Amino acid sequence: MERPLIGKTALVTGSTSGLGRTLAEALAAAGSHVILTGFGEASEIEALRAGLETAHGVRARYIAADLTAPADIVRLMAEAGAIDILVNNAGMQFVSPLESFPGEKWDAILALNLSAAFHTTKAALPAMRARKWGRIVNIASAHGLVASPFKAAYVASKHGLVGLTKTTALETARDGVTCNALCPGFIHTAIVEGQIEEQSRATGIPRERVVEEIILAKHATKEFVRADQVAAFVLFLCSEAGASTTGSALPIDGGWTAA
Ligand code: NAD
Repeated sequence: MERPLIGKTALVTGSTSGLGRTLAEALAAAGSHVILTGFGEASEIEALRAGLETAHGVRARYIAADLTAPADIVRLMAEAGAIDILVNNAGMQFVSPLESFPGEKWDAILALNLSAAFHTTKAALPAMRARKWGRIVNIASAHGLVASPFKAAYVASKHGLVGLTKTTALETARDGVTCNALCPGFIHTAIVEGQIEEQSRATGIPRERVVEEIILAKHATKEFVRADQVAAFVLFLCSEAGASTTGSALPIDGGWTAA
């Protein structure tokens, strides 16, 4: 395999599970050193970290941080040092009608899904500008482009993240830095498994039918998006071929937002 990212350092937030883990693995496979961050069992995180070093011959570090706390993000970024590729991936979901949506869930989702990307980007930019090269990939969602009921905080945060992406792109366009948002449809990770179980419990519909009739109803393909398909976009954006793509919000959603 070609390893175009040898010598680069990538920080992927929320890389201890799900999509972020796949993105960190893909970046390491392409030769980049990686910095992992996210919650999880210490022994599992250490196995992931060590496994990346062994499999790909890169340096893999783990730095713990709660990305809903700005002071923790400042510490994370200081410990990380200069990074070339920033993937803002950590995110969470909560589903509720607006009238009963808990205020603290709104605050936490906005903090993690949107404000954390502001704080990491702010801290990462000076080194990227100095090196005249940087890639920022914000993992938004199809919900950064269209809404669904009962997901007020998630939809607002992901639309906000698309806005932050555009502003970052405009401010950095002459400095060799690109910033893009990826807008995936449903990927079968823990966040989605939680929604499937919740919907099944709430409606009494068996989980297979929830997947088919509720979750995948949005996708024209009637199939989940795969994490490795999103990873391929990230690698494209980090390549020379991706150098002119900036400020975009790219759907990877099985045709969801075409309808
Ligand atoms: P996931 O729940 O498997 O992973 C979330 C990651 O974020 C984990 O590593 C977790 O430890 C970390 N995290 C959670 N709270 C944190 C906090 N306070 N501080 C630091 N880290 C924290 O979810 P996923 O499905 O892999 O989602 C990853 C991203 O992709 C999210 O931004 C999500 O909105 C987005 N996304 C997911 C889907 C999907 O269908 N799974 C679709 C579109 C977009």
